[in-house]
Amino acid sequence: MPIRRSAKTLFSKVAWHAYNTYRKGVDYRSQFSQTAALFNASRETIAAFQASRLEKLLQHAYQTTPYYRELLKMETSELSQIPPLEKKHIREQLDELCSTTFTADQRIENATGGSTGTPLTFYQDRNYWNQRNLSVYYFDRWAGWNFGEPQLIIWGAPADLEGDGHWKRRISTFWRNQYWLNGFHLTDAAMLAMFEQMNRDLPQTILAYPSSLYQFATFLSDNGLTPKWRLKGIISSAEMLHPHYRALAEIIFKAKVYNRYGGREVGLIAMECAEGRMHINARDLYLEIDSLDPYTEPGEILITQLNNYAMPFIRYRIGDVGMLSDEMCPCGSELPILAELLGRTTATFRTKTGALIHGGYFTRQFYNLAGISQFQLIQETFERCVLKLVINAKWRAEIRHHLVQKIQEILGADTVVTVEFVAEIPLPASGKREYTISKV
Ligand SMILES: [Zn+2]
Repeated sequence: MPIRRSAKTLFSKVAWHAYNTYRKGVDYRSQFSQTAALFNASRETIAAFQASRLEKLLQHAYQTTPYYRELLKMETSELSQIPPLEKKHIREQLDELCSTTFTADQRIENATGGSTGTPLTFYQDRNYWNQRNLSVYYFDRWAGWNFGEPQLIIWGAPADLEGDGHWKRRISTFWRNQYWLNGFHLTDAAMLAMFEQMNRDLPQTILAYPSSLYQFATFLSDNGLTPKWRLKGIISSAEMLHPHYRALAEIIFKAKVYNRYGGREVGLIAMECAEGRMHINARDLYLEIDSLDPYTEPGEILITQLNNYAMPFIRYRIGDVGMLSDEMCPCGSELPILAELLGRTTATFRTKTGALIHGGYFTRQFYNLAGISQFQLIQETFERCVLKLVINAKWRAEIRHHLVQKIQEILGADTVVTVEFVAEIPLPASGKREYTISKV
């Protein structure tokens, strides 16, 4: 068995290398070592790199996008004077935000609905994706990840349930040496099967939604199941990592949980180090706090993405609240530190049959739905849900039918879905936005 496992790891390492070289068409190894060298540099070096990338981005935005040409009025602008980019600007002026130096074929469409509560379609380019992957590889190594080593992934995987996507996903997870547990739909049977498989295949890291990780840890704990795996670390991503999620996972899996913070719009924003600080990905983005003093007063996080030239995101209001710290971290990384992060929360829904449904399943249904500006789904009882919607001019009656159908597909055909059209969904006093709430 150990020989089979090491052969698979070796095969996967080679496959990863081939994939990265083929996809990028460059000497991937040298690109990765350059990336790592910059991340490991002094705070001054990183700040100087950031400043030069920022200047170049602002010029590019002014020269090639109608939106910033109109907004900036002149070629050189002070960043702090530029009004933040709001989600509504992206929804209403998507074409004007795109750079004229990229053809429609060179733009890669992406969308969110996920945990941000505001469905949004936007564009990125090939270089953005290459740089984004390099950064993820770099930061995931902090949590013990490495190319080819077996990884358990507890994540939403809707493609698993459909024709072509099923096979593509299976091939891709095989050569990447990943084991996928569908975090959108956690059943006792699936969790038990994965636990037994992992006792044979021994994952070295876990990548998971924190709420799904917590559900899995709870299941193992409730059933007296002890993992025999020697994990190097656990990466938690895509939603708030609550202290009780972290505490239980660290006890059950006997490994440290590393919080990774990012967004589909701008990539990996910050990663937790071994000393528990969140280091900002200052190579790929410039992070500001919208408050009078970002070191003492929390405020909304504004992100300027430095690599996406197809559609510049400048001072983008991502929807999370945070604060900065100017301390030097004992871990040795000089990347700036995000001291406090109040992000998104995602609920776990429960069906009558006992299955656990991740709130992300529902918000995934809102991708590409231009008619909705904001939403909130509340599971009141096993029989009844309330869907609150803030709609806009692009709303069509069919969307309502589609959403109700998607909710009933997973919670049960007899679930009553009450749709309420509201003017706004206010932010709760905690400052943590809740797009899915379960009272069951
Ligand atoms: Zn650190």
